[in-house]
This record gives sequence, C-alpha cells and structure tokens, in this order.
Amino acid sequence: MTTLINEKQILADFEYLHPRGETAFNEVNTTNYLAKRLDEMGVSYERFDDFTGLIATIGSGTPIIGLRSDIDALKQEYQGKTQVLHSCGHDSHMSMVLAVASYYATNPEKVPGTLKIIFQPAEETVTGAERVIKSGKLGKLDYLYGLHVCAKNEVPDKHAEPIIPDIATRTYWVTITGKTAHAGRPELGANVIDGFSTLNEKFKQIKLDTKLPYSVTTTMIQAGESSNIVPDKGTFAVDLRARTNDMMDELQAQAFQAMKDVSVNGINVILNGNDLSPAAIPSEPAINNMKQAITQVLGEDGLVEPAPTQGGDDFHFYAYDGVAKESTMLGLGCDLTPGLHVPGMTFDHTAMFDGAKILINVIQMTEK
Ligand SMILES: [Zn+2]
Repeated sequence: MTTLINEKQILADFEYLHPRGETAFNEVNTTNYLAKRLDEMGVSYERFDDFTGLIATIGSGTPIIGLRSDIDALKQEYQGKTQVLHSCGHDSHMSMVLAVASYYATNPEKVPGTLKIIFQPAEETVTGAERVIKSGKLGKLDYLYGLHVCAKNEVPDKHAEPIIPDIATRTYWVTITGKTAHAGRPELGANVIDGFSTLNEKFKQIKLDTKLPYSVTTTMIQAGESSNIVPDKGTFAVDLRARTNDMMDELQAQAFQAMKDVSVNGINVILNGNDLSPAAIPSEPAINNMKQAITQVLGEDGLVEPAPTQGGDDFHFYAYDGVAKESTMLGLGCDLTPGLHVPGMTFDHTAMFDGAKILINVIQMTEK
C-alpha cells in the first residue's frame, strides 16, 4: 500500500500549533486553524454549539470509522513564567490527523465508508470526550482509532504499539460530617478525624482477587480549624486505579461499602462527586487492523508489545459509553524525552510522517 503525504505540510502544521497551545475548552484559535486547514482541503465539518473542537466528515455509507485527535494543552511553569504548553504532544496528533484528512480529501474513494474525524477538546481534564458524545453530533461508530505519542522508555523511535493499555482511574470527592464538642469532652461529639481514620484503614484493607495492579489511595484531606474543638466537618479525596473497568467496578463497590460502614454514631460520609477515566477496552478487530498498518509502515520489527502504562485517556469513553463498537489507540514511538507533561518535552518530528501513514492505512483496511 503506498501512501502519499505532504511531509512539509505536517511540519508546517506542527510549527504553527506548537507555540500556540490552549487549555481545555479554550482551544478557540486551535479550532479556527483546524477549520481553516479543512476549508483549504474542501473537507466539510461541523463545529459544536457551545464548546471548542469540531467533527469533519469524508465519504458516505458504512462502515463508519472515527479518527480522534485531542487538541488541548497544559498550563505549566516553564523558564520562569506560566505558559500553555503542548507538552502532551497533542500538537503532533493534530498535525498527523490533518495529514490523514488531506489524504482522504484527495482520495475520497479510498475511504471504505464514512470517515469522521473528531478534533476533541479537553482531553487533559478528562471531560472533552463526554461532551462530544453528549452533543449528539457524532452518532454511532463501527470503529474508532486514536493515537498518542509515547515516551522513549515505553515505545522506542520507529516502533509503535497497536493499543495503549491505559488503566481505569477514578477520583471520589467526599465530605465527612460529625458533631462538634469541646476537645476536653470528646465523648459528647462525633469527631470526623476519628471517622476518617477508621475509613482510611478500611480503604487500605480493600482487596481484589487478582494479580493485576490496583490501588486505593487517599490523596487529600482537610478537617478541623481549632486545636481545642472536636471537628464536625471535613473533606477528602480518594484515588482509585485498576487495570480493567471490571476491577474498577469492584474497587468502587468495596469503597462504597467502607463509606457506608463508617456512617454510624453521628458520622456521615457523603459523596460529592467523582471523576472517571475508563480503562482501554481491548478490541481484537481494531487491534489486528492497527497491527497490520504498523507492520506495513514500520516493518515486522516496528511492531512492539503494548507497554504497561499508569496513564489514562478519555478516548476510552467512546467505547465505554457504547458510541464506538471497536476501538484502539496507536502508541507511536518517537524518541520522546524526558516524558509526557514535562515542559520542554521533545521528540523526533519525522515520526509524525510514519504516524500519519499508519493512520491512513488502518482506515483503508477497515471493513465492516
Ligand atoms: Zn495526551
């Protein structure tokens, strides 16, 4: 399979986007640039009514194949000032996906059905995918592909993995209430710190019958304002991590039970909210397509076993929420150092040429 991409254009898109990072849901200039580039290609697209990003469409009929690029950047301290930086490489994702759009704009007959390109905002806050889904503008997808550049120690340059095995992460934001009293008469009150201590011990005792990694960790706690008063209100956050979504469901059930168990003798544990990032849901057909596409571009040696990661990506919401039947993310090696989210992160820009070709190929070989 030969694929024609405009390498100079990929670098030009990257060079435009790289210094102009915008944070979650503030990607106004970024969205306008993407729209301008799609206009130049003659590709039709739809913006969202009340947030940034857009969905471009090429071709018609089935299968309906999605390709998703995240578009946001991170606010960070760097070189003595606060800046919005593309330290997660979403600028490279957009540049590659624009090259895919350009290829299929020129060769629409090569799309096996409909190609929907999702330029998704707010990946870093794990909120963009759900907004896209709830907007109703995407509809159902037979396949969805995504991509992320990978750190050098996970995937080497000129290599790629056919799935990024992201874990499930969940944060609970919790309030704990009790009854205040003088510190000298604690028996007249219900001390939220005592309640929390008991609860934290219960969190530590949570066990799953698996050899796969998981964790339950209290990461924030605030209670008490005075050294001689029994505190009656506190807040805390608990971070849950699990390799699979089923394991996360089990962890969550045990955490809920623990919170219920300590809600006695004047102590009340109230869940204020939670943030979820689902684990990757492995799809054999999507992974097989991605493996083939990687092999076509990088050779047999270029295909690597998925590297264990403690990362998360809201890409997995599309499968988790039932929008995408089959899905996977390309993990692209590109000599990326020192790591994602590190200001000053650099990578081999020519890897974007391979990444774009792999994505072009994977779309072309996708059957219903
Ligand atoms: Zn990212």
